[in-house]
Amino acid sequence: MSGKTILVTGGAGFLGSHLCDRLIEAGNRVICIDSLVTGSKSNVTQLMGRRSFEFIEHDIIEPLAFGGEIDQIYNLACPASPIKYELDPLHTFKTSVYGAMNMLEMAREKNAKILQASTSEVYGDPSVSPQPERYFGNVNTVGPRSCYDEGKRAAETLFHDFHERFGVETRIARIFNTYGPRMSPDDGRVVSNFIVQALTGQDLTVYGDGEQTRSFCYVDDLVDGLCRLMASGPETYMPVNMGNPGEFTVGELARLVLDKTGASPRIVYRDLPQDDPHRRKPDITSARTRLGWEPRVPLSEGLDRTIAYFAALLTRAEETAER
Ligand code: NAD
Ligand code: UDP
Repeated sequence: MSGKTILVTGGAGFLGSHLCDRLIEAGNRVICIDSLVTGSKSNVTQLMGRRSFEFIEHDIIEPLAFGGEIDQIYNLACPASPIKYELDPLHTFKTSVYGAMNMLEMAREKNAKILQASTSEVYGDPSVSPQPERYFGNVNTVGPRSCYDEGKRAAETLFHDFHERFGVETRIARIFNTYGPRMSPDDGRVVSNFIVQALTGQDLTVYGDGEQTRSFCYVDDLVDGLCRLMASGPETYMPVNMGNPGEFTVGELARLVLDKTGASPRIVYRDLPQDDPHRRKPDITSARTRLGWEPRVPLSEGLDRTIAYFAALLTRAEETAER
């Protein structure tokens, strides 16, 4: 995987910026496309000014005119946090559907391989656990999360059909909850919320009774999985789950964060948002056998690294405010 020209949409976001780092380190040229709706240029400042890195501010719901050759496209552009993607549901849906269409047309024109960042949300509130790729899901088409879930499902269909109809080399990663440094502190997802709350002396907000489960994957593991999937052969064109099979209740996560930060705040309970999935745990047999991939970083270690990141970020913010 060296010396390629690779386009990363959503490259200034949490996952995308780590992916850009990894691809540049491996000797590739990276073109990062981002509208900055939830991402930030600060996530890629370490790459700005490098000859092998280019940033283009662009919304992928519009076609992108790009003159040069492209070998690979990672399509990651889309807000991923419920509070963010529910802010403008029509735009979220367009990002997944028009965005996928635009990027697939580009892949077809440039003869590029293209990977879609899909999601465990295609399973909705699953009635089987763990979730294998063959499970069709249990998704509400008309709820607050539908713009995201159904947009991602439609994008998978487009990827499948471009592969079948036009022979485009497509890959689909169904990503389960992933966390780590560079999540935005006001992102609203559970890991960043709990850590920021604990470090700033606020009570930890558990939605519902905290018995719902999630499986948390550390960002470095996930990026490794995406690169392996992109490098894999045509036999992996069907969706592949990517996540850490360790399953934790939200209540357990809250207690772990309090423990690790030594924080005194309490846990407070808030209403469970509508259609919040009760369980989520990936069956990663396919990724293990086809890609030789499995996560290596346990939750405890990943949380230590993420807490250290947020602690440094908050200290810097305090110092700037004092100046
Ligand atoms: P993020 O919000 O940090 O990053 C998304 C990036 O896409 C941001 O930089 C944003 O500005 C950009 N973007 C959004 N809409 C755009 C548009 N229309 N045009 C151009 N840029 C746009 O989220 P993330 O956690 O890094 O997620 C990245 C991708 O991975 C998303 O597609 C998300 O659905 C998928 N995913 C993430 C997780 C997770 O737990 N992090 C889980 C499942 C799937
Ligand atoms: N959650 C919570 N407190 C928060 C944020 C989220 O209890 O401050 C819960 C949320 O209701 C869900 C789980 O944590 O059950 C994971 O939420 P997140 O938004 O991180 O991701 P989701 O898997 O819902 O997309």
